[in-house]
Amino acid sequence: MDRRAGLTYSRRVSGANPSEFALSTPLNRLYGVGAERCAQLARLGLLTLEDLFLHAPRRYEDRRHCTPIADLQADECAVVRGTIVACGVKYWSKRTRSLFELVLEDGTRRLHCQWYNCDFLERVYARGQELAVYGKVSGVRPFTMRHPEVEILDPGEEPSLHMNRIVPVYPLTEGLPQRWLRSLVWRNLQAFGRLIVEPHPGSLPEGFVSRLEAVRRLQFPDTLAEPDTARRRLAFDEFLELQLRMLTRRRNLQANAPGLVCRGDNRWIKPFLGGLSFKLTEAQTRVLREIRADLGGPHPMRRLLQGDVGSGKTVVAACAALMALESGCSVALMAPTEILAEQHWRNFQRWFDALGITVHLRTGSRKTETECGPTARSAAPALYVGTHALITEGVELENLGLVIIDEQHKFGVTQREALVRKGIYPHLLVMTATPIPRTLGLTLYGDLDVSVIDELPMGRGVIKTFVRTPDTLPKVWEFIRQKLATGRQAYVVYPRVEEGDLKSGAKAVREEYETLVRVLAPWKVGLLYGRLRPEEKEKVMADFRANQVQVLLATSVIEVGVDVPNATMMLVENAEQFGLAQLHQLRGRIGRGAHDSYCILVASRATDAALARLRVLADTTDGFRIAEADLALRGPGELLGQEQSGVPTFKFGDLRRDLPLIELARETAKRILTA
Ligand code: ADP
Ligand code: MG
Repeated sequence: MDRRAGLTYSRRVSGANPSEFALSTPLNRLYGVGAERCAQLARLGLLTLEDLFLHAPRRYEDRRHCTPIADLQADECAVVRGTIVACGVKYWSKRTRSLFELVLEDGTRRLHCQWYNCDFLERVYARGQELAVYGKVSGVRPFTMRHPEVEILDPGEEPSLHMNRIVPVYPLTEGLPQRWLRSLVWRNLQAFGRLIVEPHPGSLPEGFVSRLEAVRRLQFPDTLAEPDTARRRLAFDEFLELQLRMLTRRRNLQANAPGLVCRGDNRWIKPFLGGLSFKLTEAQTRVLREIRADLGGPHPMRRLLQGDVGSGKTVVAACAALMALESGCSVALMAPTEILAEQHWRNFQRWFDALGITVHLRTGSRKTETECGPTARSAAPALYVGTHALITEGVELENLGLVIIDEQHKFGVTQREALVRKGIYPHLLVMTATPIPRTLGLTLYGDLDVSVIDELPMGRGVIKTFVRTPDTLPKVWEFIRQKLATGRQAYVVYPRVEEGDLKSGAKAVREEYETLVRVLAPWKVGLLYGRLRPEEKEKVMADFRANQVQVLLATSVIEVGVDVPNATMMLVENAEQFGLAQLHQLRGRIGRGAHDSYCILVASRATDAALARLRVLADTTDGFRIAEADLALRGPGELLGQEQSGVPTFKFGDLRRDLPLIELARETAKRILTA
């Protein structure tokens, strides 16, 4: 870069003292950026000098090689440089339609550039102007391009910036010219590039360019390969900052918070395990050992428990809770939905009653807690089960030793933090519903240790999954009727009515309900959706659990956790509207008993892509593989559910493919913090 030019410019823009400028300097302080430009830049999210430097081009145009017009090939893209020799508008259809055309000459031939219904262009272009145009050649007789991208080459101004090089083409907003923005980036990079320093000098792993060089390559690359190396460096920096934040948080916790001793003495766990109708799997036992070590360790536990649907996380949670309770501490268990909270409450009550432990329920609709169990004394340690109401209602949980969050991905990171702030640094166990690909795990839960239950209990029936189109529904109904006749139960899942148009959504479910009642008679059908009153929901679930109704028509409110082993069939309608991980989670509602189970995915808008996507589920029941596929196909926001998924957004980082970078960033962060 031309240092002297940069210096002159920086003097000019900043008055006496260019050192006043920082990366955080707002753009309106830059030379040539007035109020209007500033507003346009803000629409692109560009507020500071740093934003400008990191504004990634949409693509690059290789203008090192302009193609002579005579050499243009039909259907190929090319950059042409020439002078306007003619231009004008033609109208037809009573002037409702128009064609603006300009003719460019470069000494070899003439090129016709055409725009339909853009007659205002008449005021933009004039004969004699020199242009660079980029577009696809739509014909060669005469040479024609339709709606090419154009830049007017102003002979006075930095010609080397816009021509004879690889130029960046930026995302724009109305009124903001490409060339103006390009010049702005260029000038300021010359003047203030020195502000881009290494964030952690001496800690950069091998194989990366400097940050300044990365920005230079991002904005004005010398080769077409340079932007990739730039992205790699800038993505690494993003991941590194995140890892540093997470590891710092964790270190602060360890430095400031002693761990409560919660490892227990086995007096309740022993009879509890003895009373179960099954033995823990090896994986469950191993995970419990890890948890017990944490609960007796010097720092509060921060642990993520991963395990595929049905791997038996609830029992593990119960044992962890018992350890804390045995040590005299209370425990909070948070679930993402009321249905699930109530199910846990019922289960834990059944398990803990015999041990004399009180189990309270607190959800949004049950403001007053339900006292149960033989010892309803508030001084004794107790288990509190609830939804996020546990944290939002501002309740004080006395003597809180352990917080368990079930099906974590429905809770945001902030909620996790909020609950922890309630106690005096209680231990934290986070359980995920869906296995999480490693990139996401490190990004979202990088501050947690990880335990994995990588084994399903023995004796589970097989789940067979089929992908079908709506025309086969009559056969599907017949199949379900047969299975109902053998005593099994079924779920029919309908995309959620909570979202989008509430009225028509609810109506659609009601109509579906009537259809089901008709085609499945005499079997009884229950209806469950998010907006039912809590008592109604409970009643429907109780009827289904007791086999009073055999078929449960539900929206995805049953997605997480619901456990009715006799239900062995699931029909998912409009399955293409669900994500793969979500469908896997839904499917986890069946296959919980010894009978074989059947999952039928009906794709109503059956594009080939939709069917192919759904077939991933027919091909595997491995939650990790499915989550990876979902991440690759739909991205992290979709995988985790839009609501508060807590996924940080990256400008350069890509969670779909940057695992090596993330791991490297984590290693680097550790090294920086120990240095
Ligand atoms: P998830 O991991 O999806 O939360 P659950 O905890 O709901 O799974 O467990 C699924 C079912 O498996 C429950 O009915 C539970 O009682 C049962 N289960 C858990 N552990 C075992 C085991 N070791 N052997 C047999 N069944 C088990
Ligand atoms: Mg569960």
